[in-house]
Amino acid sequence: MENKETKTFGSYDLSKDILHALELLGYQTPTNIQCAVIPPALEGKHIVAKAPTGSGKTAAFAIPICEKVIWEEKAPQALILEPARELAVQVKDEVFRIGRKKRLKVAALFGGFPIDKQIQTLRQKNHVIVGTPGRVMDHLRRGTLNLNGISHLVIDEADLMLDMGFIEEVKEILNMVPKGCVVSLFSATLKPEIQKIVQEYMNDAEVVIQDRDKELTSSIIQKIYQTDLECKFDTFIDVLVDENPNTCIIFCGTREMVHTLFQKLRRKGIFCGMLHGEMEQKERLKTVDDFRRGYFPFLIATDVAARGIDFDYMSHVINYDFPTGRETYVHRIGRTGRNGKSGTAISLLCEEEFKMFHMVEEYMGQSIPIKECPKSNREKERLFLQNQKKKPIVRPRKEERLTKDILAFHIGGGRKSKIRAGDIVGTICSIEGVTVDDIGIIDIRDSFSYVEVINGKGKQVLEALQTKTLKGKVRKVRVTKKNI
Ligand code: AMP
Repeated sequence: MENKETKTFGSYDLSKDILHALELLGYQTPTNIQCAVIPPALEGKHIVAKAPTGSGKTAAFAIPICEKVIWEEKAPQALILEPARELAVQVKDEVFRIGRKKRLKVAALFGGFPIDKQIQTLRQKNHVIVGTPGRVMDHLRRGTLNLNGISHLVIDEADLMLDMGFIEEVKEILNMVPKGCVVSLFSATLKPEIQKIVQEYMNDAEVVIQDRDKELTSSIIQKIYQTDLECKFDTFIDVLVDENPNTCIIFCGTREMVHTLFQKLRRKGIFCGMLHGEMEQKERLKTVDDFRRGYFPFLIATDVAARGIDFDYMSHVINYDFPTGRETYVHRIGRTGRNGKSGTAISLLCEEEFKMFHMVEEYMGQSIPIKECPKSNREKERLFLQNQKKKPIVRPRKEERLTKDILAFHIGGGRKSKIRAGDIVGTICSIEGVTVDDIGIIDIRDSFSYVEVINGKGKQVLEALQTKTLKGKVRKVRVTKKNI
């Protein structure tokens, strides 16, 4: 792996648009995984990378893809497979941000969301598709997605794909992409089944291994408290009060337990959110966004729902239920202590979980002492309640700097009025001082359209569109905050 210290994004062969977006995102130096992946990916090599979330792996594959994609092409050129819906959205957002200045269109395809809307999206130009294997296959069978133009395929979180039973669909997709398509596979572990895929489909791949386990133990304080089923909730509250975390993710073994704990904490007046697989899609996405932005400090989640999701600023991780796999322990505690910051990982341990605890110790190559449970104490309770009552400090979304000079419009009129992208471009470019370079993404739906005006020319365009005609008529145009 290259030395991170000596590298800057500017030293790679990246276009000005990509470098500008990275600068606005505040990405100053490439992370280790980016140093290892970006150069061979830019050379067009297959890549197999063992890398955990939090390492910057999304940008590691997204930067070369955004660089390589040709804006003028109509068909999608890159397909990124994700095992869960939230991950698909998260990765779509990251690719979109990196490709923002290049005006790349990125579509997300996942279940639990109306397929008709996705079909409408797919009818238009998209440069990159991010999707879950099930929904991608669904579109392929319907003929609403075509892989003929795909030159880059990413299989992200491959081990989770395997755990969730998606691997057959992944193989089917691998068989469908054109010959010569560059394949990248990212996985937290390289299990034999995954290695088989690598041998079969990406024989000459560049292999990148980034283990975080060692790094982890130095930046994360691990604490284990013994309890039993009867006292578990009380022990948990004592620990929570004692630690008084700023932000914390609390893992439970089942969605039922997530629910129960959520209700119990809410009843105690403790601010929290929950995330599990049975929640409605919209609600799950909102929870992730709200937690990320700091609207509530504690998130109770199952592994599958929270896996891979990127949350910054996590001071604590609490295993309310001890994980049932040793690798899961490492994944869970890795949600804290990121980006050089320290963090605390706490596990409650019942007698029947001891066997797994010892397996974790062996796996991590270290013994973790079992500590005496903290006792409740008035002063700590007061501090905890005081912290709970504080008004949340809401963090800005990552893209805010990127979208500063962009104004998006909702236009009354779409496909049904026979409006095409060219009509919108024509009308906007007829405004004095506005050129095609000032137009960002265009999205045409049945009865309305979206268009972005960039370079700070939005106000001028809005004014002009009050009187200018589009496909023979003056249309209702209003500013929209909706992200296209
Ligand atoms: P990931 O491992 O892809 O989930 O990324 C973890 C976090 O690191 C995300 O919040 C990224 O936005 C952020 N990130 C990725 N690359 C960089 C970089 N070079 N510098 C700073 N932050 C980064």
